[in-house]
Amino acid sequence: VAADDKFQITFTGEITVKKVQEMGGDYSVVGAMLVSSDPAEAYRIMAEKDAGAVRGRINALVEKRHGGPFEHSAMTFFVHCPVFVWREYHRHRIGHSFSEESARYKALEPVFYLPPRDRPMMKRDGFKAMTPGFDRCGSDSLYDALCNDWRETYAACYASYLRGLAEGIDNGLARIVLPVGIYSSGWVTVNPRSLMHFLSLRTHEPAARDVSYPLYEIEAAARVCEQTLKEGWPVTYECFNRHGRRAP
Ligand SMILES: Cc1cc2nc3c(=O)[nH]c(=O)nc-3n(C[C@H](O)[C@H](O)[C@H](O)COP(=O)(O)OP(=O)(O)OC[C@H]3O[C@@H](n4cnc5c(N)ncnc54)[C@H](O)[C@@H]3O)c2cc1C
Repeated sequence: VAADDKFQITFTGEITVKKVQEMGGDYSVVGAMLVSSDPAEAYRIMAEKDAGAVRGRINALVEKRHGGPFEHSAMTFFVHCPVFVWREYHRHRIGHSFSEESARYKALEPVFYLPPRDRPMMKRDGFKAMTPGFDRCGSDSLYDALCNDWRETYAACYASYLRGLAEGIDNGLARIVLPVGIYSSGWVTVNPRSLMHFLSLRTHEPAARDVSYPLYEIEAAARVCEQTLKEGWPVTYECFNRHGRRAP
């Protein structure tokens, strides 16, 4: 948007994660494992992308937490989510690379988060009650009132942001009035080991060895990443689940 534009706000509950690229698969895990003891076999596996007899080997790596071989493949995701979700995403320092859209070199688009009606919302037992399956917002009228309030607040903040830009204020400063519900986008590149760690913390699975209670919105992002792991590294994914969803 230009600084003096009239703006059309988009309100959405979407958390978008799309795969941009991936490199490797279960065969790269076994290749990286064998390169220390049988390089010829490791290179054969890599050349043929032979994921044949990998199950026992990958299972042993996950079980014994021999994690290095899971760092030699990667996937990149395009992520479009509110700033409060990015803020949690950025806490994952190891094996994650981020490139996020700039709010200094361009203006942020007027796209703001409104929680979907079925998002668990009512606080009962601390954040533990905010996981799927718990309470929705009490009534439709309360939900509608909240959404109206949030829409008006977002619009007022964004109008102030545009006034700052129109005055010629540095973009990096004009954004101080924007709330954490505004959307930002970027790429996240991660290796399977770090992704498993991310999934262990950012998904709620009652059967996991260490049960986590993540924010609903980051879990939505994590579940898409999980699907990519499941499809591209099926044996790794199977062993991750078998051993309590803990990263090796
Ligand atoms: C449910 C939940 C609630 C949370 N609440 C809060 C909160 O209230 N406030 C808050 O600030 N954060 C909070 N966090 C963020 C949390 O503390 C972690 O920063 C975040 O989950 C990233 O995890 P990580 O450090 O294990 O991951 P990564 O940064 O990817 O690190 C991976 C692993 O590398 C090792 N490592 C990385 N850096 C270091 C280091 N400097 N020293 C030693 N070992 C290191 C650790 O073994 C770590 O597990 C919360 C996270 C969850 C899942």
